[in-house]
Amino acid sequence: MNSVVCIAQVPDTETRIKIGGDGRHIDDTGIKYIVSPYDEYALEEAIRLKEKQGGDVTVLAFGPDRVQQALRESLARGATKALHVKGESADADSLGIAKVLAAAIKTVPHDLVFFGKQGVGTDNSLVGPMVAEILGYPQVNVVTHLEVADGKVTAHREIEGAEEIIEASMPAVITAQKGMNEPRYASLKGIMAAKKITIDSKSVSDLGLADSDIVNQRVTVVSLELPPEKSGGRKIDGADPAAAAKEIVRYMKEEAKAL
Ligand SMILES: Cc1cc2nc3c(=O)[nH]c(=O)nc-3n(C[C@H](O)[C@H](O)[C@H](O)COP(=O)(O)OP(=O)(O)OC[C@H]3O[C@@H](n4cnc5c(N)ncnc54)[C@H](O)[C@@H]3O)c2cc1C
Repeated sequence: MNSVVCIAQVPDTETRIKIGGDGRHIDDTGIKYIVSPYDEYALEEAIRLKEKQGGDVTVLAFGPDRVQQALRESLARGATKALHVKGESADADSLGIAKVLAAAIKTVPHDLVFFGKQGVGTDNSLVGPMVAEILGYPQVNVVTHLEVADGKVTAHREIEGAEEIIEASMPAVITAQKGMNEPRYASLKGIMAAKKITIDSKSVSDLGLADSDIVNQRVTVVSLELPPEKSGGRKIDGADPAAAAKEIVRYMKEEAKAL
């Protein structure tokens, strides 16, 4: 059972985002990057399958050199191989990223291809389904439970008021939802073992693609804006709770017009 897990490296969810000088991208000075949280569920699922059925778990990331850190962390958790496709352009849109990942996946033996249900931060939820379409594979999205036996996958999805159970032949694309499993932390042994694994590296041109196949394929970000600053709020002073409650009601009715 060989799996590929696509890992998006994203700004830590605690990051205070600043807009870059061009007004179209974030300023990444001082940003701490993490593995996108939904990708952790995808990785954990692939590692559990490998532990039960053998095979390899290859983690794959497309992006600048910093994404090697996300690959290294994934190896420390239990992935067995890593492939970095080098790319610098922040104008690679979801389709451009999907083309690169699909071409890279073809170079790696695989039965299943895992993604997070969304890359946290940009939240497009597009790359996994697009890769499935490019490769012509069945896809099951937002999966909370997975079984693999007899050459097919059975995937469970939580839908409004019910659970949907889907069977698909392999190879297939699965996108992971929170709750699929409890992702493990890297052990010290895992961190030491990961240091010995060489991260394979390819350029976009090694995959037969050019920047013109990747940048702004269908979507161009025209501007980025921060949400308006929140006002400081109002503190109602006074030791008498009844008087404070009256003042809150008056404020909500007359000033905030919320009642
Ligand atoms: C070459 C390059 C340069 C970038 N530079 C910047 C930058 O300067 N500033 C910035 O803020 N962001 C940058 N990004 C990140 C990018 O803009 C997206 O935020 C990110 O790739 C997720 O996109 P999405 O919302 O379309 O993904 P979604 O469709 O929401 O992602 C779904 C899933 O697809 C997979 N996936 C998505 N992207 C990748 C990837 N690149 N590699 C492997 N798997 C992936 C993951 O499994 C993810 O959970 C860069 C990306 C690339 C490829």
